[in-house]
Amino acid sequence: MTTSTVSSARSPARRIPAVRALEGEGFEVRVPFPTAALDALDPFLLLHHLGPVDLAPGEAKGAPDHPHRGFETVTYSIAGEIQHEDSTGAVGFIEPGGVQWMTAGAGVVHSEMPSARMQEEGGRLEGVQLWVNLPATDKMTAPRYQDVAPDAIPETTLSGVRVRLIAGEAFGIRGPAQTRTPIFYAHVALDPHATVDVPAPAGHSTMTYALRGPDEGVLTVFNGDGDHVTLSAGDDAVELLVLTGEPLREPVARYGPFVMNSRDELVQAFEDFRAGRMGAITR
Ligand code: FE
Repeated sequence: MTTSTVSSARSPARRIPAVRALEGEGFEVRVPFPTAALDALDPFLLLHHLGPVDLAPGEAKGAPDHPHRGFETVTYSIAGEIQHEDSTGAVGFIEPGGVQWMTAGAGVVHSEMPSARMQEEGGRLEGVQLWVNLPATDKMTAPRYQDVAPDAIPETTLSGVRVRLIAGEAFGIRGPAQTRTPIFYAHVALDPHATVDVPAPAGHSTMTYALRGPDEGVLTVFNGDGDHVTLSAGDDAVELLVLTGEPLREPVARYGPFVMNSRDELVQAFEDFRAGRMGAITR
């Protein structure tokens, strides 16, 4: 007699609590990775969770002009507006619920600041930034922005579960972000005792990060077995980010805001930045 299994759930491999760190002008973020416990989860290089924090007037701090080269920054505003300016002359806002998917490519200098209104009036701020590595062939591509408005992110409701999809496809909806390599990025909210299976393609790095619930601030990395992850809530509601991505399996040379394939390319990135070849923000 044979038993056939239609699908199987991936087993959690590691549970990594975020550490706290100061960024930019001195705002606190929770850092699930990179830390001593986890360097990266190819193709993902970094995850930062800012807030939720209720800021008094004049208290909002951001990340003034700084460069990036060789990867993508994905900024998801959950509460509060973030103003963005860069060396290509682009200026924009990431509204609550919206995403900016920035391909830094060959290099940009940008600033990420709470909006003038947030700086004057204060208010609730919460955001998540993800860094996605670019394949060697795309590292020196021209910078590109995808500004995804809150209402452009599709949502679906299952039994006790709400899913917003930023990238990838599941449950009959498709996330609007165009990615260089296959990436899945969902924000999933579960009512108490709800459960849902989220697809996780074979061979793709897979993790969840808890924004809300008993595991708040914990990153879970999954084994490569199975074709989905099963998310479940106990007595408390839970909110999670679910990320899967196809590994690049290329050498990574990273330092600060630059992520390349070799040390020579890193040195070149610093030289290009210092020489002004990544531009500057004109105000
Ligand atoms: Fe940045």
